[in-house]
Amino acid sequence: MSNLLHDLLVDAFPADKAKPCFVMKDGGDVTYADLLRGISSVSGQLLAEGVTPGDRVALQAEKSVEGVMLYLAALRIGAVFLPLNSAYTPSEVAYFLADAEPRVFVTDPKAYVARSRGAAPVTVAVPRGPNDLASIIYTSGTTGRSKGAMLSHGNLASNAVALHKAWGFTPDDVLLHALPVFHVHGLFVALHCAFLSGCTMMWLPKFADAEVLSALKRSTVMMGVPTFYTRLLANEGFTREAAHNVRLFISGSAPLLPTTFEAFEQRTGQRILERYGMSEAVIITSNPLEGERIAGSVGYPLPGVELRIGGGEETGVIEIKGPSVFSAYWRMPEKTREEFTPDGFFITGDVGRQDADGRVWISGRAKDLIISGGYNVYPKEIELALDEMAGVVESAVIGLPHRDFGEAVAAVVIGEGDEAAMIAACREKLAAFKTPKRIVFVEDLPRNAMGKVQKNVLRERYAGLFDDR
Ligand code: AMP
Repeated sequence: MSNLLHDLLVDAFPADKAKPCFVMKDGGDVTYADLLRGISSVSGQLLAEGVTPGDRVALQAEKSVEGVMLYLAALRIGAVFLPLNSAYTPSEVAYFLADAEPRVFVTDPKAYVARSRGAAPVTVAVPRGPNDLASIIYTSGTTGRSKGAMLSHGNLASNAVALHKAWGFTPDDVLLHALPVFHVHGLFVALHCAFLSGCTMMWLPKFADAEVLSALKRSTVMMGVPTFYTRLLANEGFTREAAHNVRLFISGSAPLLPTTFEAFEQRTGQRILERYGMSEAVIITSNPLEGERIAGSVGYPLPGVELRIGGGEETGVIEIKGPSVFSAYWRMPEKTREEFTPDGFFITGDVGRQDADGRVWISGRAKDLIISGGYNVYPKEIELALDEMAGVVESAVIGLPHRDFGEAVAAVVIGEGDEAAMIAACREKLAAFKTPKRIVFVEDLPRNAMGKVQKNVLRERYAGLFDDR
């Protein structure tokens, strides 16, 4: 028996192992041969430390090639990889360690790889089938305890194959990798596509304009969160020529504003391909490689994904079933039961609709829905109206406590303008109950590491805005 995910990835490495896998920021290369050597010795070190199949191997560190070696070594010996956000505080980490009980916790992967050179290398992978656990990803939950999504070899392997095909990866591609690797986007989506095609990656520790602009000259595919694209657009050096070598720009992990999509097309002549995913299912929908990419839509469900809208209305909570959808939250049977329907669909918590053509449109998280005077208000609709106005860069619409209405609509806007005039302009397009009762202007919005706007932070910050109403 083979080791499903490990073999799928490693068998796809190029025949010429001297090919660079990672091109480092300073220009040095790490070849596929180097990567394989690292996986073998780290596998030996993990075994020497008593890691057995099913044990968890945790990593909290800055992005590094050695961290990737640790990931693939964990797979090789049948262990379960547990990446932790490098921004977590010691007390947050203490919770994850107590919950997941890893056998090994690595905080300095470079030192770990150096130490592993004394261990007997392991080149043969432990057999693992589709239902065996490959990784636990703790969701970045903003309320309550963080949940560990259990992703199996089958979940990750099926998604890797689907994306590699959907996005047309070939060995000649060069992937610009500037994402963190503690999250599904940088860890699974990006790395798996690169490994399955045996291609080279331009490996950047994080997004920095100058480095990205320079790496783009050699890259053919870029994967990013929307803030990468807004930052590129804010840089005058990002021109049509600068993007010329790239065949595909992909965006996800947070909504890509139609205004960004359009500005990007104007600047480069290229249309960003937006896709939608989450820790619990990796990628669920994607705009097409060939065919029209539409601003504001996250595209079609990937092959094998069943997607439906719960609640019987046109717009409602998106439910999904498919080969990449996780089976359970780690040690949380109750939570798992609550978030699956009786017929086995995962309730994503994202509100959206699917049009007659099959395209999916997301209007926000269910928990961000505003109920004002008994009426449902979907923030996205108001945000789109605001984003079209002169002076508005981006907006976040939230519901805040209000004596009469229960919640009232408020907008926090990056940009400047006249509050009363903008409210009046909104009223021309929107019903009164949807129109913001206040607009607050700010320089920036609070975001997490993946660029998602943290509306819970805004709700706390402006909780008293309507106290005098
Ligand atoms: P995470 O599990 O941290 O990857 O977060 C997943 C959540 O990110 C999803 O449930 C969505 O709310 C959001 N998300 C990811 N991709 C998109 C997208 N293209 N458009 C809108 N929201 C997205």
